[in-house]
Amino acid sequence: MKEIQKLFPSMDGNDFQREELLSYFNTVLTKIDELKDPNKLTLGEMPEYTEDYYNRVIQKAAIPKSGVSMDNVVQELLKLVEGHRFVNRNYVANAAPLPTIASIIGNLVMVLVNGNNLWDVEGPAAATAEVEVTAMLSKLVGYDENMSAGYTTWGGQGAVFNSLRLAIARYAPSSNQKGIPQNLYCFCSELSHYSLYKSVEATGIGVENMIRVTANADHSMNLEDLKEKIEQVIAKGGVPLYILATMGTTDTFGIDDIEGIKYIAEEMERTYNIDPIYIHADSAMGGMYTFFNQYDFESNPLQLEDKVNEVLTSYQQKFKQIKLADSMVFDFHKLGQTPYTTSLFLIKNRENLKYVDLDAEETPYVGNRGYGSYHTGYTLECSRMGSALSIYASLLAFGIEGYQELLANYIRVNIAFRETLTKEISNVVVTNEISPITTFRFYPEEKKWNDELNGLLTVEEMMEINQFNDEFAEIIGTDRDTIFFGNTRKQRLVKAKNSNNPISIYAHKFFAISPYTTIEEVDRYVAFLKEHLEIFLKTKRSMLTKI
Ligand SMILES: *Cc1c(COP(=O)(O)O)cnc(C)c1O
Repeated sequence: MKEIQKLFPSMDGNDFQREELLSYFNTVLTKIDELKDPNKLTLGEMPEYTEDYYNRVIQKAAIPKSGVSMDNVVQELLKLVEGHRFVNRNYVANAAPLPTIASIIGNLVMVLVNGNNLWDVEGPAAATAEVEVTAMLSKLVGYDENMSAGYTTWGGQGAVFNSLRLAIARYAPSSNQKGIPQNLYCFCSELSHYSLYKSVEATGIGVENMIRVTANADHSMNLEDLKEKIEQVIAKGGVPLYILATMGTTDTFGIDDIEGIKYIAEEMERTYNIDPIYIHADSAMGGMYTFFNQYDFESNPLQLEDKVNEVLTSYQQKFKQIKLADSMVFDFHKLGQTPYTTSLFLIKNRENLKYVDLDAEETPYVGNRGYGSYHTGYTLECSRMGSALSIYASLLAFGIEGYQELLANYIRVNIAFRETLTKEISNVVVTNEISPITTFRFYPEEKKWNDELNGLLTVEEMMEINQFNDEFAEIIGTDRDTIFFGNTRKQRLVKAKNSNNPISIYAHKFFAISPYTTIEEVDRYVAFLKEHLEIFLKTKRSMLTKI
């Protein structure tokens, strides 16, 4: 056992074993730092992803008969890091965070004491941190912290699933025993994240009972369509159970009018004498902007520019209403810059948890003892990582103002990017509102965006433009080691001249997520696109003349 014990941190805190652990940290940090290059996206060279890449991984995989040295372990791990994308100024693709130092330390503390967030006896640090960040964020968004509850879970998607489970159990408390009623319906924007799609599959509600509401030009849910569709469901004997209000769509940052949604829900409840409709604010993307809920734009203490202020003022109006939702989520591992997975599911009224909590007799080995008073028997996970520690550390290190500065910069950079992009390139249009994301679409010749929006193009014409953008995405994708742009095949849906089916619009995506993405970098981003576009157009033309 002496050899085996050497694989563990010390029992008595001796210097020797600490130094050993520190030396491994040091090697890892040094090697990763050596691989960093501000002009590249990746840490070292990307592996060559040949067709049999993973096949070869499978063939060679084997557990060593006797363990290898720790130096070897570290070397093998560092091999995996080689070619990894690193979120620096060249990463403008998606909401991928560069974890802050505070959140890394928070995570490390969690790992070192390895608390289980299931029960405070097994994980007191994470339990206290979870209660504390729940109260901090409740106060921020306007939930009553004495009524609210929160727990970290598996992502924004987990929050959607958890909220749907609450909605079902609240409406039909016997459903945990007898299975769910067959006439339940959910409503979401046609641009919402697929989290609800998966959740209606997994809860047994069924995708056919998930009603998609059309989106407005600004990518928010169309409230007239919502009302009409709820009434249709009621008319045929269905139960409108749940509305997903997206606060920041994944690709375009559209923000649903939650006040309007709540108004319609209450109107339906009164008119048809139905049970309250559960509203979950899917704020996985946008929730961090509640950090501006109390910002005073008049005195403007951070001296934000007018254009940035204008966007943030409109966000404040929308995000102040998030308190109307029955639940919401903070996905810190998106705009909040913490490691995966750090999502806090926040519930306005903790009473609702009684519908999903386990009976004491079902949890024989934890909780419900004379000792310990925090036991999350209502979560879908059993053991839970204490990711509240990362969130807690980040909240302390940033403070409200630090987050405001970070979040304002996402907007500032996007404004500059849009201006430069449309100035430098003639055949491009920006296709969403100013936000941390810019979606944009190129045209082989002249711009036809207005025609596309107004249903004046045929399916074939739009497919051709989609194809053009798709090919271009491939071209710039191969050079992603220089700058990595995102793209989407469903930026929005539009009508075609010759079809009743809505057509998906393809677009490119610029996502200002790194703290190193500043306005000084914008010219570089646009130059990259311009150079590649010129080459792409040239090859396309020469191919045409060859035919
Ligand atoms: C990213 C996202 C999700 C999923 O969140 P995860 O943390 O990746 O599980 C859900 N909804 C929206 C709107 C999102 O942008």
